[in-house]
Amino acid sequence: MPPAPRQTILLVEDEPSIAETLIYALETEGFTPVWKTTGREALAVLERQTVALIVLDVGLPDTNGFDLCREIRRTREVPIIFLTARSEDVDRIVGLEIGGDDYVAKPFSPRELTARGRAVLRRTGERRIATASARTDGVWQHDEARCRLSYRGKPLDCTRNEYRLLCALLAQPGRVFSRDQLMEAAWSDSGAALDRTVDAHVKSLRAKLREAAPEFDPIVTHRGLGYSLREE
Ligand code: CA
Repeated sequence: MPPAPRQTILLVEDEPSIAETLIYALETEGFTPVWKTTGREALAVLERQTVALIVLDVGLPDTNGFDLCREIRRTREVPIIFLTARSEDVDRIVGLEIGGDDYVAKPFSPRELTARGRAVLRRTGERRIATASARTDGVWQHDEARCRLSYRGKPLDCTRNEYRLLCALLAQPGRVFSRDQLMEAAWSDSGAALDRTVDAHVKSLRAKLREAAPEFDPIVTHRGLGYSLREE
């Protein structure tokens, strides 16, 4: 078998000593790192080429990693791992809808970063397979390239987790998913999410679906079990 093509990893870090260590570690692990020091340069790379993963420093000279992540997320699903030096950043990454897939706190070992990178790539690869069968029919339209879903002709303005959650339900209409299963499908760091996080997202999704089509209620609650999507 020919060797698998090397995956490109975009590294956005303004600290040369950290970047050099990471570049070495990523190359040793068989990746092709592309190193940029500013948000502007990073966006330019994404315009030009496809990358498998982005490693993103939170503190950058021209922007911060969170704003850059939001900017990237407007058009791309590429997995993102944050590098952060401050513990309060961790709360934001884990707790808010920034759209990162994981983080490592500085100081960290290059090994830790490459291990997390592999785990994120594996997880997002599996998720792609799981959501690939999300349907496009008269009721639901799924634009996978843009990560957008429409319900009965109305586009839904979903957050990333809402989108993933709905994709999981859509892949198997009628199947009852437990909260754990939905968390696994929709949250990168499912350990950080709580049962009520799923409930809160289902609630906000329902509100958006009601706005799109008030007479329908496609998400079914199964008391003590979880949620399913109505077969229509
Ligand atoms: Ca920095």
